[in-house]
Amino acid sequence: MPAHYCRKSSSKKYIERSFNSKMEVYQEYKNWSKGRQLPIASRQVFVDEFDAGDFAIFRPRKDQCDLCVSYAEGKVSEATYTLHRLQKDMAQKAKEDDKKRASESGDGCILFKLVHDEDWKELIVRGNSTSIKHQPKPLFSSQRQIAAAKFKHLQELKPVIPKDIHGFYDSLPHE
Ligand SMILES: [Zn+2]
Repeated sequence: MPAHYCRKSSSKKYIERSFNSKMEVYQEYKNWSKGRQLPIASRQVFVDEFDAGDFAIFRPRKDQCDLCVSYAEGKVSEATYTLHRLQKDMAQKAKEDDKKRASESGDGCILFKLVHDEDWKELIVRGNSTSIKHQPKPLFSSQRQIAAAKFKHLQELKPVIPKDIHGFYDSLPHE
């Protein structure tokens, strides 16, 4: 089987043709062996040899998540994978629904769900009026004085402070 090394950091031998699963590779091997009237190893033996040989099915992983990849490599159970597929379909449908809703409702309301099959709830958006109502009272009626020593030290920094800002330091209320 032709193999090539496509990642320097990995010692795995990647199979050149793009297979989606080990079973596809096994099928290919079976056909190859049949054509040459060679004895055919069982699936289990094949998979064991495949793993022992440190082979891997190379595939651009952009479109597949780790679980899907693990399943293709025979590391994840059928049940886990089925559930994963179901959740993926549900998420895809929910996304389509959301997009549809977003384009339909032009009333400025934001509706949300925490669970896909629950009803929509309206998101309470805090408006400007409430923030005015809850304006906190200032703790002090005027700018607080800084200590005399602090004022003096700040004055001493003037040589390294741009001249146009000196006024700020002069106007600081102080003891
Ligand atoms: Zn997946």
